[in-house]
This record gives sequence, structure tokens and C-alpha cells, in this order.
Amino acid sequence: MKRVYLDYASTTSVDPKIIEDMMPYLKDDFGNPSSPHYYGQKARKAIEDAREILANSISAQSEEIIFTSGATESNNLALFGVARALREKGKHILISSIEHHSVIRPAQELKSMGFDVSFIKVDRFGQIDPQDIKSAMTPQTILVAVMHASNEIGTIQPIKEIGMITKAHNVLFLVDACQTVGHLPVNVNELNCDFLSFSAHKFYGPKGVGGLYARKGSRLSAWLLGGDQERNRRASTHNVPGIVGMGKAIDVCRQQLPGEMQKQTQLRDRLIDFVINNIDGSRLNGHPSQRLPNNAHFSFEGVDGEALLMSLDMNGFCASMGSACTSGSLKPSDVLKAIRLSDALALGSLRVSLGRWSTQEEIDAFAHQLKKSVEQLRQ
Ligand code: PMP
Repeated sequence: MKRVYLDYASTTSVDPKIIEDMMPYLKDDFGNPSSPHYYGQKARKAIEDAREILANSISAQSEEIIFTSGATESNNLALFGVARALREKGKHILISSIEHHSVIRPAQELKSMGFDVSFIKVDRFGQIDPQDIKSAMTPQTILVAVMHASNEIGTIQPIKEIGMITKAHNVLFLVDACQTVGHLPVNVNELNCDFLSFSAHKFYGPKGVGGLYARKGSRLSAWLLGGDQERNRRASTHNVPGIVGMGKAIDVCRQQLPGEMQKQTQLRDRLIDFVINNIDGSRLNGHPSQRLPNNAHFSFEGVDGEALLMSLDMNGFCASMGSACTSGSLKPSDVLKAIRLSDALALGSLRVSLGRWSTQEEIDAFAHQLKKSVEQLRQ
């Protein structure tokens, strides 16, 4: 059976050309970049080249990039690292109510350690009002965290405006850009952020490698201890093939960005139009225009989202559900609750995320199967 992959927000396949570029660092050029000899220095050169490409792609400086194992670690590093570095200054952290769990869980952990954590509400499209951030700040606030775009409903946040507020108040600002790096233009100076997280496997690079941009001068304590790699900000031997692959992957994304954004937006809107006009009791979740080019998130009245996913999968279409499965029982996701969707609609939701290899043919075939599956499940 020919399968159609529509879950690019979850992960992407690695471009075969990039796999080729990574291979030498698994074979002949296997050195540890911290070693002063020939092999070590070859690996060092490769990771520093990748660092420069990544830094340039987000308008940062090379020394502001910290390589990590992915956005989860980057978010943990930013939250725990800032909390530890600035705990004498203040103990208040502000985060949006729709953050990824790699921000929410460390924030909850900090709460249990005596920090004060405030959650900022979003509107029904999932967007933050920057004025709410301003109103919630206190002289104790040390960090604000708002994601660039939602991995679930695709809504893009007014990061630039929020960053202007944090900057004016001298408060550090973390942006989880896991869904936007490689997919939207990202410029850390325009966004006014101090920290920015990303993961290579979301932009056609390998899994298990990512980074944290940390603006020069921003206070951050190391979280992983045990080595002086990454200027003492992140211990552990570098994932050289992964870092090389990530550098190549962002380079390809950068070259293809305008064309990909246009193509995916067009396909996304074609799918949304079809669903809204041809499937009764359907609705689009997230912002109608301020959304990721590759994200369409729907709810269907009277349909169980899990059963819908299974029906689609059995017919060769791989998408995802907007609800998290917690300890065996399916609960409406916190993000869908935050946009005030009823439990029934939240449990009848579907996330479709497109990518570089999506075609109009695939989208049309998917749309027709979706209609069929929804109608069958309602019978
Ligand atoms: N933040 C966001 C917004 C994400 O979408 C993800 C991945 N789903 C992460 C963080 C975590 O990334 P990783 O699993 O690569 O560490």
C-alpha cells in the first residue's frame, strides 16, 4: 500500500544528501572535537562550520549557539539555567498556557522548588495578548517563555511585540522555535529574544540533536555538568555526525524557504477549504491566518479522534491527533482546553502537518479519505 505521511510536525525524514554528508563523521573522521590531535581537529572544524551556518540562519553569532540533544534539552537548559543563575534577583517565571511539555514540566518543577510560575492565557485562536505579559510582570520576574508557533494548532505568536516588552523590562525571554526554525524566517534580533530552542529532526535533519541560542551576556548556568564543552554551558562529547547533519539541513531549508512556504501554504489552504466546505460539523482550530504554513488542525463533531486516526492509518494516511494520551486514558489536550474547545470537540480532533515532500495529489487523496472516514465513523 502506498503510504502518505502527513505528520511532519512530529518528525521529518532526513534528506538522503544529508545522510551522505554525515557518513564521514561516523566512519573515517570519527574524532572527538575536544581532542587536540588530527582526528579531533577535523571533527572540531566540522562542528564549528555547522555552528556558523546555524548562527547565520537565525542572525546570531556563532558563540551564541549551544549544541544540545534537541529542543527538550534546550528548553530544560534555559529554564533551569536561568532560574539557577538569577534566583537571587527574583523567583517569578511567566509562561504561556500552551507551551510544549518540555517548557511546562520544568516550570512545574521550578514551582515545586519555590519559584512562582504564572501561566498566561491565550484567546480562542491560541494567541497571547502581549499586554497580558506586561500586566503579569512583577519586579521579581526573571524569565518569560512563549513558543514561536504551536506544535499542535499551528498558531504563530506575536513574539516581536512580547520581546519588546521583556527587553524594556530587562527580563530574559525564551522562545521555543522548534516548529519554526527551517520553516519560517527566524531572526533572533527581530524577535527580541534572549534564548531560542530548536531540534534538527523538525527540519529534515537527524533526531537527537538540536540547539539553544543564548544571547551574549544573558545569564545561564549549565544544567548538564561533567565537561567543559560548549564554553562550559553543556557537558558531554559532541554528537558530531548529528551536528554536521543539522548544519546541512538548515542550509537546504534556507535555500528553499520562500518556495516551500508558498507551496505548503497553498496545499494547506486547499485542504482547509475542502474540509470546511465538504465535511459537515467540521471546524478549523488555531488562527485563521497567523498559522504555520504546514499546519491544519480540525475538530469533527460526533467523531472519536483516535478512531479517525486508525481509520486513516488503515487506508494509508499517517496524521496525528490533537490530544495527549496520559497513562492509558485519553484526555483532551491542555492546548485545546486553553482555546476553550469542548471536551467532545477536543477528543474529535486531527492535526495534519505537511512537508517538503507533500504533493497536491496526496492532499486531495487524503481529503477524500478523511470525508469518507468521518462519515463512516458517524454511522
Ligand atoms: N517544543 C516543541 C514546540 C515541539 O514541537 C517539540 C517536539 N514535538 C519539542 C519542543 C521537543 O523536541 P524534541 O523532542 O526534539 O526534543
